[in-house]
Parts: sequence; structure tokens; C-alpha cells
Amino acid sequence: MRRIGANYIITNTGEALRNAYLEVEDNGTISRVVRNNIEAKEVANLEFYNGVIVPGFVNTHAHLELSYMKGAIETKKGLPYFISSLQKIRFESENKVILKAIEQANIEMQNEGIVLVGDISNATDSIECKKKSPIVYKTFVEVFSLDQYKAHEIFDKARLIQNNFKRNKLEASVTPHAPYSVSGKLFELITELSYQENATISIHNQETESENQMFIDKTGSLVEFFRSVGINLDSFYPSGYNSTPSTIVQLPKCSKLNLVHNTFSSQEDIDKVLAYNSHSYWTLCPNANLYIENRLPDIDLLHKNRLRLCLGTDSLASNHRLSILEEIKTIQKYFPQIPFIDLIKWSSYNGAEALDKLTIFGSFEEGKKPGVLLIENFDFESFKLKDISKVKVLKV
Ligand SMILES: [Zn+2]
Repeated sequence: MRRIGANYIITNTGEALRNAYLEVEDNGTISRVVRNNIEAKEVANLEFYNGVIVPGFVNTHAHLELSYMKGAIETKKGLPYFISSLQKIRFESENKVILKAIEQANIEMQNEGIVLVGDISNATDSIECKKKSPIVYKTFVEVFSLDQYKAHEIFDKARLIQNNFKRNKLEASVTPHAPYSVSGKLFELITELSYQENATISIHNQETESENQMFIDKTGSLVEFFRSVGINLDSFYPSGYNSTPSTIVQLPKCSKLNLVHNTFSSQEDIDKVLAYNSHSYWTLCPNANLYIENRLPDIDLLHKNRLRLCLGTDSLASNHRLSILEEIKTIQKYFPQIPFIDLIKWSSYNGAEALDKLTIFGSFEEGKKPGVLLIENFDFESFKLKDISKVKVLKV
């Protein structure tokens, strides 16, 4: 058993604790949170650190499979450009390179204190890595096609991939890519399965303005991109509303929803989601948003609505690092009024809840095994991260 203390411990169950310590069993289980102010020298065998101790990070949006594309796509050119570049590189890459990059990305996330990941997969490339990794992965097998006549074929293929993960004792469910890339029929099949399996749905949401434009009047750069690559939009009818209110009713009402990006979500969009589904989670991937669109969501608006916000890194195709701490730094830079303790809740507790793993991860409570991280070089005066703040894994 170890006794681990620091200037502050953020448990995610209340206020930050000053001069408290954790009793942690050899297997990582928290056996006690000692809340009384302590004098370090009075506690036997106490490891006392200068910094803030927080629970292991949860990354609710990653694409391990795309790790080999690190640095390959030009930044700030918008989502349609990003998607078309991604498709081009995908066809040109060797399997050996893809697998090696997956392993490296997995190690980077471990070093960054990430203990649980919601990972989008289009294939089975990541199975071997996930099987061996100390990180717990929840895989979302992603499907997309606007051709409703192909819906069954595409869905069946995704089910085969899902079963392949399951045979390897890895949790996996089928999920839609985005409002603009999935036909009504395909939504129907996914939603039905989500009800059967009580599975969380993860969907890219309002990542680009042109996604809303497509649903409002079938114009904009996303529509132009689809036309340029020969995708038939004849059966797509604009609703006159933003993408989220247009598609939310095709998603499950009762299963958990993980809406990812939300860069162009308005109050009206938020209201529509909350009225329809009371289990929504809103993942922010700020560094990926800056990489692709050079825009950030209205995080103040999302925060004021008291949404369950989570953090994701997205993939190395659209991010320089796979680090939740770096995502927090970016939010803090652009939205300095958001309390650090809230950002820590987003970085672990909310994500663990979204991925159905709150009994293990997300907070320091007796019996949980959330991982113990130390944030070093912390600015105690403003109670914020510094640019040079780093994370050190004390126990997983
Ligand atoms: Zn993504």
C-alpha cells in the first residue's frame, strides 16, 4: 500500500482537498481518501508531491487507426479539405506503418496519463494493440454512407468488425460518423442496435459551418465537396434547420449520446438535444478544431448550459499530441474564466460516465481504480496550469 499526497488533490467529488493524501493498494485501488489537513512529516511512509493530484484522464474521442497520418495534412484548411486529404492518404499507406503508429500512439496516451479511451475504428487494425494495452478501450465501429440502398451491406460489414473486437474481449459498438454522412436507413439500423445493446452512440457533430449549411439549404463547401467527388445527393433533402436538430430524432432517445466537436452548436441546437435525450455528453477536441477549422466551440455557452462536457484528442491526423492536459491548456487559454476544477471533471469524471466506466474510473473514491496523476509546475496562485505544466503518472 502507498500513501500519496500533494498540495492539492482533486477528487471529482467536491472541493479540491488541501494537504490530503490517498491510500492506494498495490493494484491501484483507492482504499482511503484522507481529507484532514496533514502535516507531511506526521504520516508514516507518505510520498508527498509538489503539485496537484487528479484522477486518470479519459479521452472520449480518438482514432488510433489514423495515427500514421501525423503531420500529413495541412492545418486550418477546413473540414472538406481535411476529409479529402484523409481519403487520399488512406489508399496509399502500408499496413506495417499503420500498425507501428497505432502502437506509438497508445504509448503516448499512457505517458500522458490517459486510462480510458473511446476510440473510433473503421477496421480491425487496432485490435492487437488494444488487447495488450493497460489502457481500457471502448471501440466505436464507425459507419458512413448516404446511399440508403447500401445501408444493410455497410451495417453488416460493421457488425463483422464489431464481433471481431468482441471475440478478442474488447468492448465495441456500432456508431454513425456524422449527421451529413449517414442515410436515414443506416441511422435506423444503428439506433435499433444501440437500443438492443444499450450502447453509447458517438457522433461527430457540427464540426464545420458547412455542415449546418448543408441541412439549411443544401449549399456550402461540404455539399460542393460531395459533388466534386461524385457523391449523389439527390435523395438528400434540406430541412431548413441546423444539422443537429435535423438528425437528433434519428438517434436513440434513451441510450447515451456522445456528441463530438460541437464547434458550431447554438443555444437552439443545445435545447433540441436536451429536450430529446437526457443522456447527452458533449466532447470537446479544441486542438483538433484549431488544426482543421481554426475555430473553437462556444465553450462558455456549453458550460453555462451545465452540459456534461468531456475531452478528446481526436487523431494525430488533426492534432500534434494525444494529450488531455494539452487540451485543457488550450481551453484555459481561450476561456480563462472556466475554473480548473471543472476542467478536471471534464477530463475524467464525465468521460468515464459517458463511456459507462464510472464504477472504476473518473474520481477518487474507495474501491475505484481510476489511476493517480500528478500535475507538476502548477500555478497555485491562479489555480491554473502553466504552459510548462506536465503530467506524471504516479499509479495506474
Ligand atoms: Zn473524429
